[in-house]
Amino acid sequence: MPTLRFILGDQLSRSVSALAGIDPARDVVLMVEVAEETSYVPHHKQKIVLVLSAMRHFAAELRAEGLRVDYVHLEDPANTGSFGGELARAVARHRPERIVTTEPGEWRVWEAMGRWEAETGVPVTIRPDDRFLCPRADFVRWAADRRSLRMEFFYREMRRRTGFLMEGDRPAGGQWNFDADNRKAIPRGLQPPVRRRFPPDLSTGEVIDLVGRRFAGNFGDLEGFGWPVTRDQALVSLEDFIVEALPRFGEYQDAMKSGEAFLFHSLLAAALNLGLLTAREVCLRAEEAWRDGHAPLNAVEGFIRQIIGWREYVRGIYWLRMPGYAQTNALSADRPLPRFYWSGNTAMNCLAEVVRQTRMHAYSHHIQRLMVTGNFALLAGIRPAEIEAWYLAVYADAFDWVELPNTHGMAVFADGGLLASKPYAAGGAYIDRMSDFCGGCAYDVKVKTGPSACPFNYLYWAFLIRNEAELKGNVRLAMPYRTLAAWSEERRRASVEEAEAFLDRLD
Ligand SMILES: Cc1cc2nc3c(=O)[nH]c(=O)nc-3n(C[C@H](O)[C@H](O)[C@H](O)COP(=O)(O)OP(=O)(O)OC[C@H]3O[C@@H](n4cnc5c(N)ncnc54)[C@H](O)[C@@H]3O)c2cc1C
Ligand code: SF4
Repeated sequence: MPTLRFILGDQLSRSVSALAGIDPARDVVLMVEVAEETSYVPHHKQKIVLVLSAMRHFAAELRAEGLRVDYVHLEDPANTGSFGGELARAVARHRPERIVTTEPGEWRVWEAMGRWEAETGVPVTIRPDDRFLCPRADFVRWAADRRSLRMEFFYREMRRRTGFLMEGDRPAGGQWNFDADNRKAIPRGLQPPVRRRFPPDLSTGEVIDLVGRRFAGNFGDLEGFGWPVTRDQALVSLEDFIVEALPRFGEYQDAMKSGEAFLFHSLLAAALNLGLLTAREVCLRAEEAWRDGHAPLNAVEGFIRQIIGWREYVRGIYWLRMPGYAQTNALSADRPLPRFYWSGNTAMNCLAEVVRQTRMHAYSHHIQRLMVTGNFALLAGIRPAEIEAWYLAVYADAFDWVELPNTHGMAVFADGGLLASKPYAAGGAYIDRMSDFCGGCAYDVKVKTGPSACPFNYLYWAFLIRNEAELKGNVRLAMPYRTLAAWSEERRRASVEEAEAFLDRLD
């Protein structure tokens, strides 16, 4: 009797633990496209194309290697639409002696997996996902008895554990972190490199047709799809980043520019999250670029910190705190998500531009997610669950384990400061400093109140006033609260009223 090897859509790595020790003569690999996964949020069209196309290419690669793959297509008339239903049908087809799978990236699926054994009557082995550098249990050990779970401490431990950018037991260059060098805006005349994209092949073309038909009403453009859908393409994408963009990744990490979605970013998150690349190999390649003298240390350290620091850390937090994590709402945020998050129809140029880039590419870079769409949601007090569902839907790289902590914790402070030491709240001056968005805006970033004022300016102060009880004790907010202390009661009230009136007019 065969072992059924069940591979999920974000487990597209030949090295994934569910495939370890596979017997090509006996075992069957099961892969299923199910409606439940394509519709638990209204995903961007390009995200659905990416996942389904990458799954189909991966299945083809396994077959070419001589493995038996049972692949269920979304439009198969017998498709039950759920993992559980498809597993039950596959058990009836293959009569396996056991099912082997790898732990999933989402709590929702993890819970369902716990029921599979009872539902199918076949023993289920769930193997750890060893593509991550920090096993879930190690993170729990790291977090135990710590008063502060700050990423920076975790990151240093990961540097020591992996040996990346270490010289003996000291960090290369004598510093753990070069962030101070990494906050420049794009100077006039600097042209970001043209990035390698991958025109759809026949198989991706078929998925594009399917998505165009079945998900016509979903957010996002299909034209211009160019994400890597195979490991070979992902490796080309990695090389493109290392050669063309990594040397300036650090300096311009926080910069934003109209019409330039990609700048010097790696564009690798989707490939990493699907399993087309591993965290270790991208860090090795980046470190090699530094040792060869191709890229400076501030760029390479900044990049490696995002991967072995932030990426591993948010996964650790997710599994440490779920399912309760998603339920907290520390600032009692209660406004519905404004419609312009989907339409882009707003006079605030920064938001219109980020939504436009998101619609075109299912991508916008970190600072745009954090300091434009995230900052607005924080200042406006958007319900965490609604803004989280938006992020989970619109980005090609969005999976719950990474999207949720970034949005819930980092962007909207709904966890009350578990992840971030202070809310990432900012007025228009920050956006103006880091981008060229304000030049083309209907509002004036220098004006603080009144009809022509940049809304981020008064929303910022109204946010601090509204949340004074929760935030005033935060030492990192001491300066703005000192400023507020000098305001008259009347000025405070006027600021809150202006913000409320603006927000009430939004839709
Ligand atoms: C509100 C919000 C939501 C986010 N949602 C997601 C998401 O759903 N999926 C996702 O992969 N990332 C998410 N991020 C993190 C980050 O914005 C993206 O990983 C990054 O923009 C992807 O583009 P890139 O590959 O060009 O990244 P680069 O800027 O080139 O960074 C290099 C790599 O580091 C990793 N990385 C960087 N920052 C983070 C981070 N904060 N958390 C985890 N990994 C990180 C990614 O793997 C990324 O590919 C979110 C950030 C915010 C503020
Ligand atoms: S003026 Fe304000 S709303 Fe307009 S682009 Fe600048 S920050 Fe955004």
